Amino acid sequence: MSWLKRWRRARVLRQSAIDPLLWRAIVARYPFTRALSDAELARLHELVILFLHEKSVHGAGGMAVRDEVRVAIAVQACILILNLGLDYYRGWVEVIVYPDEFVAEYDYVDEAGVTHHVEEAMSGESWERGPVVVSWADVQEAGTGQGYNVVIHEFAHKLDMLNGEPNGYPPLHAGMQRPAWAAAFTAAYEDFCRKVDGGLEAGIDEYAAESPAEFFAVVSEAFFESPGIVAGTYPDVYAQLTQFYRQDTAARPDPQPVRVPEPATS
Ligand SMILES: [Zn+2]
Repeated sequence: MSWLKRWRRARVLRQSAIDPLLWRAIVARYPFTRALSDAELARLHELVILFLHEKSVHGAGGMAVRDEVRVAIAVQACILILNLGLDYYRGWVEVIVYPDEFVAEYDYVDEAGVTHHVEEAMSGESWERGPVVVSWADVQEAGTGQGYNVVIHEFAHKLDMLNGEPNGYPPLHAGMQRPAWAAAFTAAYEDFCRKVDGGLEAGIDEYAAESPAEFFAVVSEAFFESPGIVAGTYPDVYAQLTQFYRQDTAARPDPQPVRVPEPATS
């Protein structure tokens, strides 16, 4: 990172703040933030401030973007890059929030050369070098330990797209082996598709069977929301994800119980 960028970020950190009560409420909302150490939480706090300074979060479809919305989205987006840094979200600035599912319209040409117009209800979407789009109703379903997290899902696609089209192969760090990644993910993806075809419950959202790109995004959701399931079901994938995210989510202590604020006594 250039000294100028470091200097600018240091100044942003000095001059920006998040309402401490709001911060505590958001951190209490998710098992993956309740499991963080104080040092990790401090790092997440800095990342969230920088994220909100460098990205623009705005509403569409009548959505009013309150501070709660901005911080909740930033916290979940930044858990992926806790040990990677904000530059992993380079090359784009916009996060668009709809109140609920939104309709994506696109055209595609089939094998016979016929153009089809498709309208599809979406809970989230990531554009290569473009915005991340999420439905606030779906964002609020995160943190239940069910493995579902639309923000983590869409931002995992963003990491995947750092080296082009999303395909389940994000840029790996020095020391990671591409064949090991490919072997772990290919075997797990094939096993997962067999389980889904056979109607077996794999503990991971069936949407992961759509494509290797969706498998990476869905397994990333589970890696943070319910890491024990990924570690137990696909240990090789889990091992690759710990190297990629530089976090050992299943080894963290059980999430702190939610602390309900003491009622005022006077
Ligand atoms: Zn996806």
